[in-house]
This record gives sequence, structure tokens and C-alpha cells, in this order.
Amino acid sequence: MARTTSASGAHPHEPHGDSFAAKLNWLRAGVLGANDGIVSTAGLVVGVAAATTDTAALFTAGIAGISAGAISMAVGEYVSVSTQRDSERALLAKERRELRDEPDYELAELAAIYRAKGLTPETARKVAEELTAHDAFTAHAEAELGLNPAELTNPWQAALSSAVAFTLGALLPLLAILSPPVTARIPVTFAAVLAALALTGSVSARLGGSSRGRAVLRVVLGGALAMAVTYGIGQLADVAGI
Ligand SMILES: [Zn+2]
Repeated sequence: MARTTSASGAHPHEPHGDSFAAKLNWLRAGVLGANDGIVSTAGLVVGVAAATTDTAALFTAGIAGISAGAISMAVGEYVSVSTQRDSERALLAKERRELRDEPDYELAELAAIYRAKGLTPETARKVAEELTAHDAFTAHAEAELGLNPAELTNPWQAALSSAVAFTLGALLPLLAILSPPVTARIPVTFAAVLAALALTGSVSARLGGSSRGRAVLRVVLGGALAMAVTYGIGQLADVAGI
């Protein structure tokens, strides 16, 4: 339920819009959110199943875990994106004030940015003048702050999508533990979860352009560790007669 996996990877300074990179970021956030749902719910239901064969208890624990996880993800995401957007808005307001109060200084500043990117002073000046004539505010927001003022991330949308991603991932271990006969519950869940994690690990490695083998290994080992730990806890509770 670490919302860092879904939030911070996705939008810091990354205004989302129709661009390919932005879509890729949202997709990656979705895969990571699903991953969170798989691992945390798998750990939860395996732990409960190791302690009891009571299906109602298992179902209740699973649903409660999924709800708590999805809400926690949504709240974390909402807070994170709102904070980000507040600071982006403050920067944009400051830029707007500066453009109003010191237009000459701002024009020189914009030209300097294009000179620093490699344009000649004459071309940089001309680019800055034309952009300023067209839409000074957007030009400054993009060049100086890396922000598109029309496309700030919506915190509600971010919250909803991370809750949905988490829930979709979380349903897999819940179905895996409830579907088979009681004695096969835990092995079936282990197998289904590790296979699903191999898939999400592979997809997120591909989206992120990193090494697939290592990404898959990390996420599969992480999931196996989570289930092994909660299985041990459930067994202890069972043995102790809790
Ligand atoms: Zn400026």
C-alpha cells in the first residue's frame, strides 16, 4: 500500500496530457498500483488462510483489506497530487505577476533560456519575442517551469485511477484463494500471484525500458516474501490456537 510506487513515479513535474510520455507514465503508475494490490492482498489472504479454513472470515478479511488498501492509495495519491498542484499553481501565479510587473526583464530571461539551449543571441531574442507575442504566460511556464498551465494533474483523477488499479490487482489473490478447494487454497494462490507478478514486473520493465529479468525477479521475490511472512504468522496463530 505504499502510495509512493504509484504516485511519485508518475507525475512529479510531469504534466499529463496527450503526449506519449505522459500516457506511458500513467500506464506505469497503473501497473505499479495493481502490483501493490496483488502483493498486499496476497499477503493478507495467505496469512488468514494459514490460520483458519473459515471461508467467511477469509472473504471478510480480503474485502476489508482491498477496501482499506484502495482508499489508502486514493487518499495518498490525492494528497500527493494536490500538494504538487498547489506548488505548481503558486509558481504559475508568481510567473504571471512577474510578466505583468517586469515584462522587459522577463523577455530577456526567456531569450537567455533559448541562448542556453544553443541558439544564437539574435535567434533566441526573436524566438522569445514571437513566443511572448503569441502567449507569453504559456511560453514562460513551459520554458522556465516545465509546466503546461492547461494540463496540471487532476488530484481526483489520480486518486480514482490508483484506487481502481489497486482493486484490479487485489481481486486476483482474493479469487485465487476463494476458488479452489480448501486444501489447495494456499498453493494455488502462491502460484497465481507469482505468475501475475512475473507479468506485471515484465510489463513495467518494458514500459520503463529497464532490464526485464531483474525487474521480474525483484517483484516475484518481493511477493513471495510477503506471502511467506504472513503464512508464517498465520501458522503461528493457528498453532497457538488464537
Ligand atoms: Zn519568466
